Amino acid sequence: MRLIVDLVRCQSYGQCVYAAPTIFRFNGEEALEFDYAPDDALREEVERAVAACPVQAIRIGLPDAAAPVEEGS
Ligand code: SF4
Repeated sequence: MRLIVDLVRCQSYGQCVYAAPTIFRFNGEEALEFDYAPDDALREEVERAVAACPVQAIRIGLPDAAAPVEEGS
């Protein structure tokens, strides 16, 4: 899955780091770092972070490739 964080909106509250430490971390005092394309297995953790962010800065984006439209078969 794709992860999109609006860093303009982000206030460095760090809730996401607590909710999903595998994906989010702070680099220094306030610079939020995160995994842009976490494994789907981490979805639950990601969703916890989305829910935890007080300013709704975290969004789950579209999958890497849209599922191709099956023709025929
Ligand atoms: S919880 Fe939201 S505001 Fe806080 S550091 Fe994470 S993205 Fe930024």
